[in-house]
Amino acid sequence: MTSPASSAPLRITGARIVDGTGAGPVDDGVVRTGADGTLAYVGPAAAEPPVEPGTRTLDVGGRTVLPGFIDTHVHFCAGSSADLTRRFQEDPTVGVFRAAERMRLTLEAGVTTARDLGGLPAGFRVAQAEGLTVGPRIRTAVRIMGHTGGHADYSTPCGMDLSGGVGEIADTVDQVRISVRRLLREGADVIKVCATGGMGSPHDQPDDEGLSEEEIRAVVDEVSRHGGRPVAAHAQGTAGILNAIRGGVTSVEHGYGLDVRARELAGERGTFVVPTLSTVFDGIDKSTMESYHYEKKVRWSGITQENIAAAIADGVRIALGTDSAICPHGRNLRELIHLVRLGMSPLDAITAGTRTAAELLGLDDRVGTLAAGKEADLVVCDGDPLADISVLAEPERIAYVLQGGTVRKNLLPAQPDARG
Ligand SMILES: [Zn+2]
Repeated sequence: MTSPASSAPLRITGARIVDGTGAGPVDDGVVRTGADGTLAYVGPAAAEPPVEPGTRTLDVGGRTVLPGFIDTHVHFCAGSSADLTRRFQEDPTVGVFRAAERMRLTLEAGVTTARDLGGLPAGFRVAQAEGLTVGPRIRTAVRIMGHTGGHADYSTPCGMDLSGGVGEIADTVDQVRISVRRLLREGADVIKVCATGGMGSPHDQPDDEGLSEEEIRAVVDEVSRHGGRPVAAHAQGTAGILNAIRGGVTSVEHGYGLDVRARELAGERGTFVVPTLSTVFDGIDKSTMESYHYEKKVRWSGITQENIAAAIADGVRIALGTDSAICPHGRNLRELIHLVRLGMSPLDAITAGTRTAAELLGLDDRVGTLAAGKEADLVVCDGDPLADISVLAEPERIAYVLQGGTVRKNLLPAQPDARG
C-alpha cells in the first residue's frame, strides 16, 4: 500500500475546477500536486507556471475537479440499525473489518475526510493515517455522551447494553466533566453530547431534553481546558437545540426543530447545523423498521423540511453530514440532492460539503478547498454537478479520487502518460 507521503507529482489538465470556496468554476484549469502530497498549483491553464520535464500528466477531458468531500456525521461501527443485534452474534474482529470496508466505500464515494460521531475507536484514525487501511481521514467522537435512559442509553430492562458500549453515560455537571476527560484520554477529536432524545432510541422522543444547558456549558468548558475541540450536539427538538446553542456547542446535529428563534440564535453564535437529511428522507421503510421508529420518522420529516429550508434561506452555516449507518454507507453525496431540494444552489451545497465542513472540523487550513499548500484531496466527476447535483451522488460517476496526493480510485479512460 502506498503511503500518502510517497506520491509522485501529478499534473491534471483539461479540468473544470470548482474549488470549494464558493467561487464559480474555472474552465480549462490545471491542478498540480507536489511530492509531499499537497497541492502545488490550482488555476487557469493560461497562468500555469512552467512544467518540469518528466511530470506525470492526467487529462480529465473537461470533467469537473472538486475538493475531496467531508461528511461530518457518520457511524462506521454499524451498517444499519439492525446491526445492533448482529454485533452480539459475531466475533468483534469481524466488526473491525466491516468498519474498514465501510470506510473504503465512503472514500470511493468521494469522501476523503469523515467525522464519526459515535462508536469508532480512535485507533481507526491512526490506522488510516498510517496507511494500514484505506478510507477517509478520520475524526472521531469515540462514544456518545448522554443521560441515563437518554438517547445514548440502549440498556434493556434485563440490563443488556444494546449499544455495545457506544454510550458514555453522565448525569450531572461533575460527571460530564469526568466523561470529557475520559473521552479525550481515549483520543476523541470531538465530543458528542445528546441534547435531546432521538428517533432510533427506544426510551425517548426527539422533543425530550437531554443534557441541560448547564451540563453542556460544562462540557464545552472542560474541552476548552484541554486544548479545545469541536463539541457536537445531537439535537432534534427545539428546547434541546436552544440548550445546545446557548451552552456553546460548535454544531447542532440534525436540528429538525430549528425554529425561527433557534435559527436566529445559531446565526448570532455562528453555530453550525448538520441537518443529516439523508436519514430523514431516505430509507423510511415500514417493513424493516421498528414501528416506534417508523412513526417518529414520518412525523419529523415534515417538520424538518420546513425548518431546514428556512435555515438555508436564512443563511445558517450548514455543513454536510449524513448519519450514514442509519442510511447506507458509500452513498454519502446523496445528501447534496436533499440540500438542493430544500433550496440550496448546487454550488452552495458543494461548499457545505467542502469548505464549511472543513471549518466545522477545524481542518480548513488543510482540507476543504483546492488551493496551493492544502492537502491534495480531490475528486473528478463525470457530468456537470452545477447543472445537476445528482451526478455527485452516484459513486460510479466519481471517476477519480486523490487523497494526500495518492490515487485511491481511477475509473478514467486509460491514458499513456497517467499511471496510478
Ligand atoms: Zn448520528
